[in-house]
Parts: sequence; structure tokens; C-alpha cells
Amino acid sequence: MIEVTLLGTGSPIPDPERAGPSTLARAGDQIFLIDCGRGVLQRLAAIGLGANQLSALLLTHLHSDHIADLGDVIITRWVSTFTPDAPPLPIIGPPGTAEVVAATLKAFGFDVGYRIAHHADLTGPPPVEVHEYTDGAVWDHDGVHIQCAPTDHRPVTPTIGFRVEHAGASVVLAGDTVPCESLDTLAAGAGALVHTVIRKDLIEKLPMQRIRDICDYHSSVEEAAATATRAGVGILVLTHYVPAIAPGTEDQWRALAATEFDRQIELGGDLHRVQVHPGVCTGPRDTGPVKPAE
Ligand SMILES: [Zn+2]
Ligand SMILES: [Zn+2]
Repeated sequence: MIEVTLLGTGSPIPDPERAGPSTLARAGDQIFLIDCGRGVLQRLAAIGLGANQLSALLLTHLHSDHIADLGDVIITRWVSTFTPDAPPLPIIGPPGTAEVVAATLKAFGFDVGYRIAHHADLTGPPPVEVHEYTDGAVWDHDGVHIQCAPTDHRPVTPTIGFRVEHAGASVVLAGDTVPCESLDTLAAGAGALVHTVIRKDLIEKLPMQRIRDICDYHSSVEEAAATATRAGVGILVLTHYVPAIAPGTEDQWRALAATEFDRQIELGGDLHRVQVHPGVCTGPRDTGPVKPAE
């Protein structure tokens, strides 16, 4: 079983109820954080976990809303790990990730210096280990296998989605993307697809062109649902709602997804949890008996 927790379902726009984009995937005793938006460690604390328990941080892309708390994750893990010779935090992301991590460590350089000077058992900077990928296997430890594939969030490039597999269960984390073939392939037959979505029907009516601009590089609810159907996934998990789901309108969002996807649809607030069991995927959707040719 893989357990998915939507740690942050928000967007770049600060929301009192929603942390920035971030999803947790627990597979066996391994814990993966996918993206680290605003407030991620507070949400992690809400489910009794800390940065020092993460097996790896996976980044889908380097947009600010998805990496806003990267410094917090790195520094907090460092100062809250009390075992000597703590292993480095693996950070897996698209090309550019190493530069962002290095710049983050530099930005916190004074802090790192203060803490090393103050604590005898902190003898070096936060240990991290960055791996950049655009495609292929990125993780294979103790029965958890993770692969990535390119997504399409242009002009943001490169961007990647991840597929986590464990004991027969599988979860795909698409990140921000428009529908694309490589995501369809990555998600094919997965137990669950976690997809970021925007309501293009609402955003397109807004008077600010800069906000309307986001429509061309995100999937709408219907597009994400159509991706889930093409890939034949078992559960569609929607997150990163733009605009934020207004209280009482969850069913509207669900109905839009249901126009394109007829299996289990999950959405909700921060900390919404979905269990993905092996075999939840039943392959390509049964579209009914094939009609005989006239
Ligand atoms: Zn983005
Ligand atoms: Zn985003």
C-alpha cells in the first residue's frame, strides 16, 4: 500500500486554509516529500512527522510555489537530526535543482555558520545529495522503485512527474503540466494519479491578463481527468486548486472531473489522505461492448 497525503493544496496565492503545493507519499517505511511549498513542515508536523524522517525530497519543477520552503526543509532537517554522521538528504529534481539547492544553502550561509559555531556536534553544513533527472529510474531501495518522465509546463522546462511503486501499488505525481504523451505513458495503469489542476472556466473570466496567462501551461480539471482516463488509472487525486475550492463547491469540481473520468475521484483540503492498494488499477477503462460494424 502507498499512502498519499495532500500536505498543501494551495497555489502561489497565499491562502489561510491551504499550504503551498506539496504531497507526501509513504511506501512501506520510506517517506517521500514531493515538492515543498509554503508551510510544508507545519503540515508535516500535523501528521506527526518531521523533516528528519524524510527518505528523499522529489521536485517536479523549480517554480517558486513548489520550492518555497526548500530552505526550511534543508535547515530544519539538519538541526533536528541528532544522530552522528546523518545521511545526506537526497534531493531529486530536474536539471537546475543543484543550482537552486546550492543557492539556498548560500542564502542560509550565515545561519549555517552561526549554528556550527554554537553547537559542538554540528561540524559541517546540511548534508544534501542532489540528483538531476529528466527521465528514467531515480530511486530503487528496499522495495520502493521510483521513475520520472518529462511533463509539459512550458515555458518552464525541464519539468518532471514521478511514479512511485511499492509492493504492487503505484502512484504517479504529475506536478504542473498540460496533457502530454510522456505523462500518459508514465501514468499508464497506475493505482492513482495525483494531478495539479486549475479551473480554466473561472480563470478565463478574470480581468488580469497575468492571471489568465496560467491557463496555457496547466491542466484544467477536465484535462487532468481525461489524462487519468487515457492512462487507465484507478484513482484521480486533484490538488493545487486554482482558484482555491470555495467552501461548498467541492461537488462542482468533482462533477467536472466526472465528465471525463468515471472511477474514484479524490479532492479536499490539506491533509486529505488517500490509500492506494495494489490492484486498485483495473487497466484501461471499460468503455462498454464494442459495437459490431454496420
Ligand atoms: Zn508550475
Ligand atoms: Zn504550481
